Amino acid sequence: MEKVFVTKPYLPPIGEYIDKISCIWDNHILTNYGPLHKEFEEKLKKYLNLSNVHYVNNGTTALALALEALDKPLGEIITTPFTFVATANAIVWQKYKPVFVDIKSNNFNIDADKIEEKINENTRAIVAVHCFGYPCDIKKINIISKKYNIPVIYDAAHTFGIKYQNESLYKQGDISIGSFHATKVFHTIEGGICIVNNYKYNDKIKSSKNFGLLNGNYEYIGINAKSSEFHAAMGLCMLNHIDEIINYRKCISNLYKSLLEDKIFIPEIPKDLEYNYIYFPIVFQNEKILIEVINNLNSENIFPRRYFYPSLNELPMFNNASITPISIDISKRVLCRPLDIYITEEIVTKICLSINETINKKVYKLVID
Ligand SMILES: *Cc1c(COP(=O)(O)O)cnc(C)c1O
Repeated sequence: MEKVFVTKPYLPPIGEYIDKISCIWDNHILTNYGPLHKEFEEKLKKYLNLSNVHYVNNGTTALALALEALDKPLGEIITTPFTFVATANAIVWQKYKPVFVDIKSNNFNIDADKIEEKINENTRAIVAVHCFGYPCDIKKINIISKKYNIPVIYDAAHTFGIKYQNESLYKQGDISIGSFHATKVFHTIEGGICIVNNYKYNDKIKSSKNFGLLNGNYEYIGINAKSSEFHAAMGLCMLNHIDEIINYRKCISNLYKSLLEDKIFIPEIPKDLEYNYIYFPIVFQNEKILIEVINNLNSENIFPRRYFYPSLNELPMFNNASITPISIDISKRVLCRPLDIYITEEIVTKICLSINETINKKVYKLVID
C-alpha cells in the first residue's frame, strides 16, 4: 500500500494552475505585489468577509510582524505551550520571553482563568492559539486585555474558513495571523496572513512587510515578507475548491467518529462554530498506548503525527520554568490522524480497525464546555 501521512496537500487540477500563471509569461511580473497578488488578496477578503488582510510569505513571519507592530519594549508575552513550535519561536525571535500558561484539557487552548496570575508590569501581550481550530475563551481574554491594557494576538494558523458566532474567527484579537502552509487546510504552498482588527497597527504591518516602505517612503525598519505571483496563483485556485475540500474533510471526520464511536472521542465542536475539519485529534489513556497505536499504524504504512509534542516549555531552548501539568500530560497522549482530500473510506476503516484493536477500549472521553 502507498504510504499514508498525516496529510497530503491538495493540488488543484494542473490545467487550472497553468491557466492562472500563464499571464506571468506575458507581463513578466513575478512578485512585488503584482496583479495575481492583488486579485488573491481581494478575493480572500471577500471570501472571509474581512477588510484588513495582508497576505505574506508564511505564518511565522506573520506572527513576527504582528509582534513587531505592537511596538512594545522588551518583556514577557503570555502564551500557550500546546502549539506548534513556531508560536514560541516568533516570540523569542522578537526577543520577548514567553510565559507559558497551562491549557484546558477539554479543548487544548490556553486556560483563560490562569492568565491573570501571570500578568505583571513586564507583560507586553497575550499570544493565544485557537488550537486545532477550536476557539479560545475569547470573552475572558478580551476582559483581561481591557482590564490590564494588554493587546491580544491570536495565532489562528488552524482557523481558515472557520466561523464562530457567524463571523470569521480571524476577526478576534487586535491582530490575528493565519498560515497557508501546504499542510494546512487552505494553502498557497507557503504563505500566511495578518488580519489587523485594531486599525492602529495597520500602517506598521503594511510597511514592515515590505522593507519599511509606506506610501513611497521608508517609515520603519521592515523585513521582506512578500509572497510571489506563483504563490498567489495557487491561492486563487485553492479558493475555487476550498468549500468542497472542507466538505470532504467533514465527511472523513464523521466517518472516523462513527467507526470509533463508543471508544474514542474528539473535542466536541461547539454549537456556534462552523468548523473546517483541519485535524482529527484523539487522546489516549497513556503514552504507552499511543506509542503502540503509532507502531501498529506504521507497520501498515500509515503515519499519524504527534501534534503537539512535546509541550513547548519542555524544550531546552525556551529555558522556561513555567509549570503546565495539563499541557505536558496531553502532549504525551495526543495523536492527529491522517485527514485530507485523498483519504478513502477504505483507509479510514483500516486505521480505525487498527486503533480499535490496539486501544482495547482504553480511551477517555473529551467534551468541550
Ligand atoms: C503552521 C503553524 C504556524 C506556522 O505557520 P507557517 O506558515 O508554517 O510559518 C504557526 N502556528 C501554528 C499553531 C501552526 O500550526
